[in-house]
Parts: sequence; structure tokens; C-alpha cells
Amino acid sequence: MAVTRTTTTTLPKRAKLFTKEDELKLIKDDKYEGDTDRQKGKIVWFPNVLWYLGLHVLAFLGLYTLLVHAMWKTWAFCYVMYLMNALGITAGAHRLWSHRTYSANLPYRIMLMLFNCVSLQNDVIEWSRDHRGHHKWSETDADPYNFNRGLFFCHVGWLMTKKRPEVIEKGRSLDLSDLHGDPVLSFQKRFYMPLGLLCCFGLPTIVPWLAWGESPWTAYLTAGVLRYVCCLHITWCVNSLAHWRGHRPYNKHINPAENLMTSLFAIGEGWHNFHHTFPHDYKAAELPYMFNFTTAFIDFFSLIGWTYKRKVVSSQLVGTVRQKYGE
Ligand code: ZN
Ligand code: ZN
Repeated sequence: MAVTRTTTTTLPKRAKLFTKEDELKLIKDDKYEGDTDRQKGKIVWFPNVLWYLGLHVLAFLGLYTLLVHAMWKTWAFCYVMYLMNALGITAGAHRLWSHRTYSANLPYRIMLMLFNCVSLQNDVIEWSRDHRGHHKWSETDADPYNFNRGLFFCHVGWLMTKKRPEVIEKGRSLDLSDLHGDPVLSFQKRFYMPLGLLCCFGLPTIVPWLAWGESPWTAYLTAGVLRYVCCLHITWCVNSLAHWRGHRPYNKHINPAENLMTSLFAIGEGWHNFHHTFPHDYKAAELPYMFNFTTAFIDFFSLIGWTYKRKVVSSQLVGTVRQKYGE
């Protein structure tokens, strides 16, 4: 099979290449252990199932309202809210905090923490604990969104059922001291409910209403609920669609795949075969800017010195792994 390799010229100038130790650790961390089964979890009807059902009813109402009643400025505002919501997960909870693929100064971390509140997907410490478990014990009983339990389960079912004992037990064994040591995250955890509700639903309702006279009900249903539900599905697609459909050029022995559709909507998070093979690369993809707005965002802030120490896997290692394990 022909091997396409990136060259270092495609990498941002100040990006940090992995040391040999990082690379060895990276391969070691990618091991798989544990068994899998499709044992049904106990459904949590209240509040979880009811919460997601209610949200979807309101989101359909939001779609109708967007198409029929919303002002054009509200449409534009929905898009801005979508980007903030997405970046709060991709650049924040995922690449910065879960994987530590780059470092950032205080103003950037505060900004990303607030963006993360817009996404209302649990506080960053909890999100990262689940995500670190997802990588460390990928597709085993200790994986919170284990793909082997079915497409519905890894998409949203895991949020509507009780966690398996293996997920809880293994999750507790993870070292989260770096996250607890970040005062920005401690602050977020402490005030998560009021902060999350204000950023996810309060501001998207108030801003269009006060700034350009949109009906608050329209603003709430569109920039609030509809944007939130769409972003939830986009994030969940990384756990479902990107573990199911696509090429596996870096490791054919795992389910995570290169899924263009997910990358497009999840602003760069769908290059999932690469990401599971090299989880410490800040681009979460081999190519820096192929449907990867998140990488462009991080690089922009590195220009003004707000982000730094961006970790990149060497093209030599990528090439070797492709040849050895790729499709
Ligand atoms: Zn995954
Ligand atoms: Zn990840």
C-alpha cells in the first residue's frame, strides 16, 4: 500500500516534536485490555431519559421557530454559539484538558472554560475523566461509551443508563491531579450548575432579545435549545459514527476511523483513527487544517502567545505506524 507521509513543513513553526520517550509512552498507553459484552445497563428514566426527551421536543419546536420566525441576526448568532459550544469541547475539554496536547495561559483557559459551560456536557474534570477512560480502556467494559455495546449506547444510551461498576472503579483509578490543580477548573466545578445554565440557555436568550429585539422565546428555542441539541449529537457522533464508519490508515485493529462527516461538523474531531493511535497530538489529525477549525483556532492563539507547547507526532513515526498497522 502506498504510504502518504506528511512533511514537517506542514507543521506550525513552533510546534513541539515528541521526544522518543513520549512516543514510546504513547504506543504503550494505546493498549487494550478487558472483555466486552452487551449487558444492558439499568435505564435512568428520571431525570436522564426525561431530560433528553424533553430537549428533543423543544429542539423540534426550535427548528420550526428558526425557519419561520427567527431574524437573520439570530441565525448568525446561532452559528457563533455553535462555534463557541464546539470549541469549548474540542479545543478545551478534549485537546487541552483531557489529553494535555498543548498548554495555555490564564485568559485563554478562562475563555475556554466559559465556552465549555456553553456546551453543558458536565464540567471539564468529569468530562475528562470519562474521556481518559475511553482512551485507556477503549472498547472494553471500563470504557464509559463502549462502542461494542451498540451504536445507540455509545451515541447517547450511556447517558441514560447507570454506569457499569468497571467504569466507576477504573475511572476512580485515573490520575486527575493536573485537572484538580487548575484553579479555573476548580472554579467551574464549584459553580457548574448556575454557570452552565447561564451560558447554555441564559445568555443565548438574553443577547438576541436585548441587542436586536428578537423575541426571547425564539432566541431561547433556537440559539439556546436547538443549538445545544445539535451540538450534543455532533459530539456524540465522535463516539458512535467515528467508531463505526471510515478508513483506518493508522491502525486497522481498532474501530475508531477517519470520518469526514464528523470532522466537518465537529470542527476537526472526526479523524478518529489517527486520534486513537496518537492521542497526544494537538491537531488530532495528520493534516493540520483538513476540516479542522480547532487546530486553526489553537494556532491563532499561539501567534499571540496564549497557547504554547503544542505537541506533534513526528511524520517518521506516523509513517512507520501506518506501514506496520494501517489498512
Ligand atoms: Zn473514541
Ligand atoms: Zn480523545
